[in-house]
Amino acid sequence: MDYQQIIEEVYQEVQEENLRGKVATYIPELASVNPDQFGIALVDLEGNVFGVGDYQVPFSIQSISKVHTLTMVFHVFKSKLWARVNVEPSGNPFNSIAQLEYEKGIPRNPFINAGALVITDALCSKFEKPTAQISDFINELAGKTCVRINPEVKQSEQNHAERNTALGYFLKAYQNFENDVEEVLDVYFSHCAMEMSCVDLAKSFSFLANDGYSIFANREIVSESHARRINALMLTCGFYDEAGEFAFRVGLPGKSGVGGGVAAVMPHKFSIAVWSPELNEKGNSVKAIKALELLTDKLSFSLF
Ligand code: GLU
Repeated sequence: MDYQQIIEEVYQEVQEENLRGKVATYIPELASVNPDQFGIALVDLEGNVFGVGDYQVPFSIQSISKVHTLTMVFHVFKSKLWARVNVEPSGNPFNSIAQLEYEKGIPRNPFINAGALVITDALCSKFEKPTAQISDFINELAGKTCVRINPEVKQSEQNHAERNTALGYFLKAYQNFENDVEEVLDVYFSHCAMEMSCVDLAKSFSFLANDGYSIFANREIVSESHARRINALMLTCGFYDEAGEFAFRVGLPGKSGVGGGVAAVMPHKFSIAVWSPELNEKGNSVKAIKALELLTDKLSFSLF
C-alpha cells in the first residue's frame, strides 16, 4: 500500500475543493493561528512515517488530549471508572450543562467536557504531578519529547472558564468530583493547551491501532481489551455531536479538537493525524474530516 502517494492525492484533492469553515474563537488565542495550514501524517505499525503539508508544525491538540488522559485513568481504575462516567454518545454540544442534570451528575461519556473533567479529577486523585505526568506520558507514546504547553492558550482558556468552572462545581454538587475544582481545571486547561505536530500525535495514537502496544514506547500501554474499549468510545463519542456522521462518512475511531486536529486509527494498520484550523458548525475541522473521508474511500477499507 503506497500510503505516501495516497495521502498526497488526498491533500491535493482537499486543497482543490477550497473548503472553508471558521477558526474557533471562544478561546481567543486559537483565533490567532493561520487558518490555511493543513497537514496529514500517517504512521504504520512498523513505525514508517508518511507526511504531507504542515505535518511537522505543532498545533493546539485541545480535546484530543482527552484520549491520553482517559488512557491513563482507565489503566488505573479499570472498569470501576464507569461508575463515574457513562459510555454513551451525548448528541448534545460538548460543553452542555443541561444533560448533566438529567443524568444526575454522571456525564454521558469521557470526551464531552463534563466527562473529561471527571477523568482529570480522577487523574488528580492518583497522580502526584498530574500535568507533568500527562506530558511525560504523551512524550513517551510519541517516542520523544515533543509536548509543549502553550501558556497563552492556557491563559486564554482560563480567562473564559465560566462553563467549565460551572461544570466542575455542578459535578461536585453531585459528589462526582473529589478534588478542588480550580486545581483540576488548571490541569484540564494545561492538557487542552498542549501542542504537538501531526506526526508526533499520530505516533502517540499508534498503540490504539496496535492492540495496546506502543512501538514508540516499546511497551504495552494498555491491555488489548482496554484498547478496544477506548476505540469504541472514540468511534461513538469522539466527534462532539457529529460522531454518527463521522462513523458514516469515515468509519474510523478518532478524536477531534477545536484546534482543528483529528487523530484516528485503523486497527492493525495505522494511526493518522490531520490538522487544519477551520471548523464546521459542530466544531470539527472541515478539511480534516474531508481528508479522512477521501482516505478511507481510496484505501477502500474502514472498520466496516
Ligand atoms: N479546552 C476546550 C474546552 O474545554 C476543549 C475544547 C475541545 O477541543 O473540545 O472548551
